[in-house]
Amino acid sequence: MPLDWTGFLAPLVIYGLVFALHIAVPAERVEGYAIDRNTGRPLWYRLNGLPVTMAILTIWVAACRTRLIAWDYLYTVRWESAIGACAIGIVYSLWAVFRAPSTGKSLLAELFLGREDNPQYFGGRVDAKMVLYLVGAAMLVLNVVSFTAHHVLRHPHDISPGLVLHAVMFGWFVFDYLVFERVHLYTYDLFAERVGFKLGWGCLTFYPFFYAIGLWALAPEPNPGTPTPLLIGFGAVFWLGWCLARGANMQKYTFKRDPNAVFLGFIAPRTVSDGSRRLLCSGFWGVSRHINYLGEILMGLGLALSLGYPSSPWPWLYPLYYVLLLVPRERDDDRRCAAKYGSLWDEYRKKVRWRIIPGLY
Ligand code: NDP
Repeated sequence: MPLDWTGFLAPLVIYGLVFALHIAVPAERVEGYAIDRNTGRPLWYRLNGLPVTMAILTIWVAACRTRLIAWDYLYTVRWESAIGACAIGIVYSLWAVFRAPSTGKSLLAELFLGREDNPQYFGGRVDAKMVLYLVGAAMLVLNVVSFTAHHVLRHPHDISPGLVLHAVMFGWFVFDYLVFERVHLYTYDLFAERVGFKLGWGCLTFYPFFYAIGLWALAPEPNPGTPTPLLIGFGAVFWLGWCLARGANMQKYTFKRDPNAVFLGFIAPRTVSDGSRRLLCSGFWGVSRHINYLGEILMGLGLALSLGYPSSPWPWLYPLYYVLLLVPRERDDDRRCAAKYGSLWDEYRKKVRWRIIPGLY
């Protein structure tokens, strides 16, 4: 089949639109957690991910309804679109790395991990990391919608409820991130990572396409006929995962903003302290040191199972990716926190023994 050049250019148009909307749409201006190296003060951010993604989705639906594009357009051009996104990811990442002075690490390490930790453009109006996550989220939503539409158009009389559940859970996953966009300012990516291929190419290519790998592979397949009680169970695994991840992230966010606040009205902030610094050891943070990572893995598991083809390898790549990402990340974070908190971290480790899975790991 000949290459569809419109498909190749589609990510450029979509990313450009998201970027333009991010600049134009009124945003909440908030103080973050990462420190500006020049001023020693926290960086400021403009957050409007939710309205921007809603606007993109509305434009997309309008274009489909008026038959400007087919509902499953992004499915039919998925290869070209992924290649186009990959090209943008490479060009942006190279630019982001080479515009900054070297940190003294090897070029390979700098290319992958980046040089600048918190680049902001247009006089601080656009934060690189937040816009990268926004672009990736918007493209992922459109891919999920389009890939699901492909299944519906192909099997209009026997639509897979599991595939629809999968799409709804993915929608939930992305919109949850957008609703709680501010909480993301308190995460590792924002305060500890630099912008290179990992973040740049990762958000522009890997995130919107790899996350949809289950749908990519299985959208053309017929309804596998998964029994409803099993689907409810898979939904429950996802839901439990979401509660763990969102609960832990919100508890830490609440604590960092007001160390004495009672989370959800009943989880008091019990802590270990060295007099000047405190670490939470109650609620989610008392169960394991990264219960949020277990939550992400469970969400991935629920998503993989819901598609109803357990013998296909493709949906499993998604939860596997989380295991491969988060297990080393926990080790990294542990080292970082040991260096930052010293004996206080040892005390916390003694109190909360498990790294990720209570009773197991
Ligand atoms: P955490 O939210 O667990 O943050 C770790 C940091 O929290 C530590 O460096 C430390 O920072 C602080 N901290 C650790 N323990 C405590 C404690 N007991 N009390 C108070 N502060 C503590 O990890 P991440 O930032 O890696 O992850 C955030 C979320 O993002 C998670 O849910 C994760 O799963 C998710 N994620 C999602 C991805 C996706 O693609 N969907 C990819 C990667 C992550 P400090 O020095 O500030 O105290």
